[in-house]
Amino acid sequence: MDKINLFPKIPDDFLLQCMHCGMCLPSCPTYVLTKRERSSPRGRIRLIKSVSEGKLPISDAFIAETTFCLDCRACETACPAGVQYGRIIEETRWAIAQQKTPDFKSGLIKKLLLNGLFAKQKRLQFVARLIRIYQCSGIEWLNLKLNIAGLFSKKLKDISPLAPKINKKFTHQLLPEFLPAKGETKFKVGLLTGCMQDIAFSDVNVATAEVLALNNCDVFIPRNQGCCGSVHAHSGDSKQACQQILQNAATFDLDSLDAIIVNAAGCGAFLKESDKIFSGDSDSATIDKVASKTKDISEFLCEIGFKKPEENLKLDVTYHDACHLAHGQKIRSAPREIIESIPGIKLIEMEESDWCCGSAGVYNITHTETAFELLDRKMGNIAKTGASIIVSANPGCSIQLAYGVSKQKNDMQILHPVSLLWRAYQGESGN
Ligand code: SF4
Ligand code: SF4
Repeated sequence: MDKINLFPKIPDDFLLQCMHCGMCLPSCPTYVLTKRERSSPRGRIRLIKSVSEGKLPISDAFIAETTFCLDCRACETACPAGVQYGRIIEETRWAIAQQKTPDFKSGLIKKLLLNGLFAKQKRLQFVARLIRIYQCSGIEWLNLKLNIAGLFSKKLKDISPLAPKINKKFTHQLLPEFLPAKGETKFKVGLLTGCMQDIAFSDVNVATAEVLALNNCDVFIPRNQGCCGSVHAHSGDSKQACQQILQNAATFDLDSLDAIIVNAAGCGAFLKESDKIFSGDSDSATIDKVASKTKDISEFLCEIGFKKPEENLKLDVTYHDACHLAHGQKIRSAPREIIESIPGIKLIEMEESDWCCGSAGVYNITHTETAFELLDRKMGNIAKTGASIIVSANPGCSIQLAYGVSKQKNDMQILHPVSLLWRAYQGESGN
């Protein structure tokens, strides 16, 4: 990985245009919550430009503003000038990571979590098994009931309910390395099983593989895959992010595949843009291939004309647009097409369906208060639909929404679009 990351260069005329515009402000959650110009896309662009030109130092206040941004990219959708805000904020975080040494505590957490766990899938699986024992033994229930975490710190108390429910079995225990097409083979695809998706949503990986096989795809699910690298990239570690892409790429026979299927919005957005992020890198040929072959599962199914299910599910569902699917990958209609293809399903659109739920990677851990404010807003909009199922295509959103559902003490289910389709194919009503 030989790319040298510097602060993004923002031309003067662009900033001038921004000053007369401001169309992104009403769609920016951090601006709407605070009404502070510096917490808006335009304000941040101005700050980043000043720092990149050496007119302002890389101060703690500047760093705080860049981390306060959700990287939800709603501003990209709103911007008539087509500003690639996601690139600007991410390159800024990389530049900060290169030029500022983090304090001991955050440096250690970063090293342990990102390099120690998310870069090593087997280690992550081991820790996940310990978490499952904690969750199944009743200790988690006691902790939440008696507020034991709160005795140590308020932060620990706040984030305790956000721990994802760990699956009994992970992807490699549920799926073979090769799942042949049911019937004629028309496509050959690889399935990215991910990090969080593997330990907390292995059922979504199973649904993805089975749905693909039923749609005439040979599915390759190589072992030794791991995190796509997006968590490292979003946290400023571009070197490890690139490493993760290359490690995963080596497990696939890229040239033989029609597509690499991704069922987590954040991972898909990152991989699709990785060719631009790492352009000029010595491994760019491999990265270009990964970027061009990456497809979101809903996008791919719609492109190949997936088989319409016949089972009538009789369910009222609402759809939450994950930021990195709607704003990052510009995919909005494909998941809805899948939902609406199922007989008996009534899709009830919620207000602000593409407004961030507050999950945003690790934002609900680093900025818990703001994340919960956004979650309350989202849950209010969901409640107004009266739906019994929330459909969403990103593990982070599913974890955050599950917490929202548990706070409201109702029994709403949260499903990935492909899980709903798999349920319809299987002829299950789910009631
Ligand atoms: S990415 Fe989201 S939070 Fe950040 S400036 Fe854009 S709209 Fe605001
Ligand atoms: S919408 Fe685009 S051009 Fe307008 S202020 Fe926001 S970033 Fe600048």
